[in-house]
Amino acid sequence: MSTPIPLYLHNTLSGKQEEFTPLKEGLVRMYNCGPTVYDRAHIGNMRSYVLADLARRVLEYNDYTVKQVINITDVGHLTSNADEGEDKLEKAAQQRGETAQEIAKKYTELFFEDIAKLNVRTEGTEFPRATAYVNEQIAMIQTLEQSGYAYKTSDGVYFDTFAFKDYGKLGDIPTEKLEEGARVEKNNEKRNPTDFALWKFSKEGEKRQQEWDSTWGVGFPGWHIECSAMSRALLGRQLDIHTGGIDHIPVHHNNEIAQSEAANKKKFVNYWLHNAFITIEGRRMGKSVGNLINLDQLSDRGIAPLSYRYWLLTVHYRAPANFTWEAVEGAHTALKKLHRHFVDELGSKDGSLDSTYQEKFHTYANDDIDTPKAVALVWDLIKDRALTTEDKRTTLLNFDNVLG
Ligand code: AMP
Ligand code: ZN
Repeated sequence: MSTPIPLYLHNTLSGKQEEFTPLKEGLVRMYNCGPTVYDRAHIGNMRSYVLADLARRVLEYNDYTVKQVINITDVGHLTSNADEGEDKLEKAAQQRGETAQEIAKKYTELFFEDIAKLNVRTEGTEFPRATAYVNEQIAMIQTLEQSGYAYKTSDGVYFDTFAFKDYGKLGDIPTEKLEEGARVEKNNEKRNPTDFALWKFSKEGEKRQQEWDSTWGVGFPGWHIECSAMSRALLGRQLDIHTGGIDHIPVHHNNEIAQSEAANKKKFVNYWLHNAFITIEGRRMGKSVGNLINLDQLSDRGIAPLSYRYWLLTVHYRAPANFTWEAVEGAHTALKKLHRHFVDELGSKDGSLDSTYQEKFHTYANDDIDTPKAVALVWDLIKDRALTTEDKRTTLLNFDNVLG
């Protein structure tokens, strides 16, 4: 038996690489922030789901059982990302003359299709819809209210961020920065600029497509409470790992921490992992910039979704990846070459796992999911004349458990 290889992950909470230890031996509870299903997800979003998948695959490669939850946000995510603006689902419904439910269903299905094309593992993964957990969200808000963390205004129930001692600890965001962001949307009834909505009331005289009764009044839950309530319902009060894109660090994830820790009286998450953005010409791929590309558009230009995955793996998840057609075309060519090589030259007979290569691969995988090094190792292995084709084949198939 070779010595075990420790798993290291970069934790946004400490800003450092840390050795991973689960709360319960052999089991990892992981929550990945999922899509808001009002529109087709773009390939920038896909990077987050590929990170979720890589984390799971690396954990499974280390023999952990992974309990995984990816939420589907089908209500409450407002266009401003804060507490003002319209609900993205309601707005899309009005614009397109469809119901919010129809829109949610359509984009949830497309989301499943997209992640399947990217070989994202989903066996055993739970995909809770926020609208199916409204009772749990209301119950959590009640707990927060009873312990003095929530207060009511004329337009909703808010979380009092000054009552939560460590507010903003994730990513070490200076309070002034958080306040600056929060001030954009003016709400004079909020006690503090960083306070955020737990529950919003339906406007007077307005009938929303998705609204629920509550002790405070008819309305709908805030986007942040969804994640806190669904993670608790499905994974418990404490999680090992939580992931998302870096844009979620300052507000969404700090708000999740505040709600969960105030309600559960326990540390919410031990390891926070965040992927950097996909950019185009130096700007984040995003709806507001209007530079979106989805997987179909790649396929239309002859680039298979798995070539996009391959390209993602050649950049470390914490480094920004600048999308260019040349770059993904290069990845497509490389992946085709790899497949050809595998099929034409490595045959169909299995050999044995090469322990030197396997240990190297494992070390890279365990070094904060260093996929660029792991992909480079694939090519080193292929070119290595000292190995038999059968052993190469078996060793590559072993790597593929992580690379997908
Ligand atoms: P949303 O559906 O807007 O909640 O976003 C889904 C996921 O995609 C979140 O984890 C975001 O942080 C992530 N995300 C959004 N834009 C990008 C981008 N350009 N590059 C990488 N991740 C992104
Ligand atoms: Zn979330």
